[in-house]
Amino acid sequence: MTNITKAPDGFEGHGFFATKLDEAVGLARKNSLWPLPFATSCCGIEFMATMASHYDLSRFGSERLSFSPRQADLLMVMGTISKKMGPVLRQVYEQMAEPRWVLSVGACASSGGIFDTYSVLQGIDRIIPVDVYVPGCPPRPEQILDGVLQIQELVSKETRRRREDPEYKELLASYGIQ
Ligand code: SF4
Repeated sequence: MTNITKAPDGFEGHGFFATKLDEAVGLARKNSLWPLPFATSCCGIEFMATMASHYDLSRFGSERLSFSPRQADLLMVMGTISKKMGPVLRQVYEQMAEPRWVLSVGACASSGGIFDTYSVLQGIDRIIPVDVYVPGCPPRPEQILDGVLQIQELVSKETRRRREDPEYKELLASYGIQ
């Protein structure tokens, strides 16, 4: 049996379906996210399993990975981020066009994990805003998929003009990002 994506809220009649433009754009965006995998260590291996045939991230429309920030809208940070790597991660984030979302995968990216040391960043949210956190060391592929589904939920409800939203502007300003 073929699974069909649930239609957004709207009005249906004989031969027509009407909805808001925001809902239609959200539906398209949510099912065509282009992730940029920023993988530095073991959590990256879990991501490889998530991409492979058994878990198959392409079922969610995200099989097209982008290694150019300018052609990605989902930054997936997976692994230990050293303080030296911090400015690089931030630059990658800044190079992504709006709208963009960030998924922090695993304990290291989210909080520094077991590496409570002078050289490791104690969570990427110290330098860039994060939308969804995936717990675990390492998180299983199912958890990473769940994180992507949570991002999809946010994306589907995102207004088309997120960058004009005062709350969002305030969040970026708190990070010193224009
Ligand atoms: S959270 Fe655990 S599995 Fe993931 S990068 Fe850190 S040490 Fe490795």
